[in-house]
Amino acid sequence: MQYYDSKTIIYLDGEFVKAAEAKTDLYGQSLHYGYAVFEGIRAYNTHNDVRIFKAKEHYKRLQKSCELVNIPFKWDIDDLIKQTYELLQINHLKDAYIRPLIFCAPNMSLATPTSVSIMICAWEWAAYLGEKQLKVCISSYQRPNPKSTHIEAKVSGNYINSILASTEAKSKGFDEALLLDIENNVAEAPGANIFIEKNGVLYTPSLGNILPGITRATVIQLCNILDIKVIEKTITVEELKNADSAFFCGTAAEIIGIESIDETIFKTNWSNSIGSTIQTAYKNLVLEKVNYQVLI
Ligand code: PMP
Repeated sequence: MQYYDSKTIIYLDGEFVKAAEAKTDLYGQSLHYGYAVFEGIRAYNTHNDVRIFKAKEHYKRLQKSCELVNIPFKWDIDDLIKQTYELLQINHLKDAYIRPLIFCAPNMSLATPTSVSIMICAWEWAAYLGEKQLKVCISSYQRPNPKSTHIEAKVSGNYINSILASTEAKSKGFDEALLLDIENNVAEAPGANIFIEKNGVLYTPSLGNILPGITRATVIQLCNILDIKVIEKTITVEELKNADSAFFCGTAAEIIGIESIDETIFKTNWSNSIGSTIQTAYKNLVLEKVNYQVLI
């Protein structure tokens, strides 16, 4: 995948510069220790023009992630949103993935950084809602102990765990991994949250061992609007495997059905599942085809 070419522009510390010419220092904590914070945001080409979905929520989480790991956050969120729209326009992007990254200035010590930078880049990303259902395996890797890191922060270093799990799943012939928490209960995918359906009710793991996904929160809001009962609780592997259906949700993954977990195939056909209803509602929401905005 080519993320940029000679014309691509990125936002770097208040300026729009060519991606190919932008530089970073090799003597920094972000590169050496994974001490950086980022977001993954989507823009959709809606009939109301290009719209960044839940921009404020994403930039607020970026700020919260920084605060949790003591990386100074010195930006104005409304201004960052404005710059992001500008970035999309400059690069002629309509359906796009947006990646803000906050990284630390040169400093090889383990001390809190005094100087940090922000870069925002974006690339074309077509909506691929619901193309297929995933074959998922339970990973041999657990999500990190929430007492060893801030699992609710979107910190670069946490993604080593995600890369290991995803790579392992693919090497075994699965589409994606599902990670358990330190108590061996269901946590999340390497880059998405999970919901399961049982007897007409949706369940999702409680916060504590997972990234509090913005899509997860959106799904809960959609359930409230659509009168679908949804419960946040600890979910065991047995409950997962006995579920009627399940799906992952995330900014990049959107809503994507799960066909099977290890050798267990879910009973309910995806098109008859609650997940499929949520998938359609989510698609309508991000494309602004319905006016849920007034409600959420
Ligand atoms: N969990 C992890 C580990 C993730 O990386 C992501 C993607 N940001 C999610 C869940 C889903 O979060 P969101 O819906 O905010 O994209």
